[in-house]
Amino acid sequence: MTASADLVPLENEIRRLIAAAGPITVAHYMELCLTHPQHGYYVSQDPIGAGGDFITAPEVSQMFGELIGLWAAAVWSLMGSPQAVNLIELGPGRGTMMRDALRAARVTPAFHSAIGVHLVEISPVLEQHQRTALTGERVDIAWHRSLDNVPDGPAIIVANEFVDALPVHQMVKQDDGWHERTVSTVSAGGGGEFVFGVSREPVAHFDRIVPTSLREAAAGEIFEWRSDNMAFDIGRRVVRAGGAALVIDYGHVISSFGDTLQSVGGHGFTDPLIAPGLVDLTAHVDFQAFRQAAESMGARAHGPVDQGAFLRRLGIEARATALKSNTDLDSAARIDAALARLTASGRTGMGTMFKVLGLADPKLGSLPGLEN
Ligand code: SAH
Repeated sequence: MTASADLVPLENEIRRLIAAAGPITVAHYMELCLTHPQHGYYVSQDPIGAGGDFITAPEVSQMFGELIGLWAAAVWSLMGSPQAVNLIELGPGRGTMMRDALRAARVTPAFHSAIGVHLVEISPVLEQHQRTALTGERVDIAWHRSLDNVPDGPAIIVANEFVDALPVHQMVKQDDGWHERTVSTVSAGGGGEFVFGVSREPVAHFDRIVPTSLREAAAGEIFEWRSDNMAFDIGRRVVRAGGAALVIDYGHVISSFGDTLQSVGGHGFTDPLIAPGLVDLTAHVDFQAFRQAAESMGARAHGPVDQGAFLRRLGIEARATALKSNTDLDSAARIDAALARLTASGRTGMGTMFKVLGLADPKLGSLPGLEN
């Protein structure tokens, strides 16, 4: 590992941290890897798209962002068509989804002119991409490092593949309670390979956070838990000033055990402890925990439903047919392939792997695409 250390500045920094203060939690490790101010994965590079480490739904096809734009327009009318609405995107990547959504939103001119766009983005590199993608849009656009900085007001919030990038604590059940899973080095002085470990002391009262159904865990089970307040903040915001949020991600609908920390570099899986800061680290979203946190703030949860079902209900097939009618055979085949990728089930498509959760002001009633 030391031979590659010069190539991986974050690795050196984590070694120094461990040498000085002992093992760090998995959540701290993940946070450093993704958002360290100089060397974090999202801060220092552009990971998305054909040349990057992974491809997201908005990068697969314009249809995805367009349908999100139509969804937002429908939600805006359920909200009573307020004259001003904050259209907030969390983690907008290359800005593609917002660009496509704004184009589709023009179909409802009163909605389009009510929109103020707020992009919550931690990465200066991706912010630049967003500025380029959104050049010429005739709406006000503001950038923020955190949702807390977005002004109050009626809000429609969208987040695709954002929550999976928020740091996760891995809690390991042992006979005397739940312990934090840690990252340390083979030698206590910060040398040798990175290895997983377990904190010596249990975390006091963690049982209260684990869902009742999972309290009888066998020793060695891992429970993943996000300690950020994202779900609470979203719930509070949509209830306080009215509105709705759409969270699209991979994960489990019911809280369960398991280690889902994964690392992706060059479109393949790698070892999460190798090349910190140079590869993406994610963990599944616990949709049950997320919705319950938002519900505790008074929001109503809708779904989650599978992404494939959600997109079909919003009319992705008709949109694909319309796009194909003006094009040549090669482009038509590409549109069909994108449609399949976005909606197909199993491991080849995103249709069942990804879930869509709505969180809304209870006054809105049922939300498009998320009806039971
Ligand atoms: N939604 C985009 C990008 C997904 S990648 C798409 O679907 O293509 C995750 C995005 O979240 C990136 O833009 C990343 O820079 C941003 N991000 C990750 N952690 C963040 C944090 N803590 N605060 C704000 N943005 C963050």
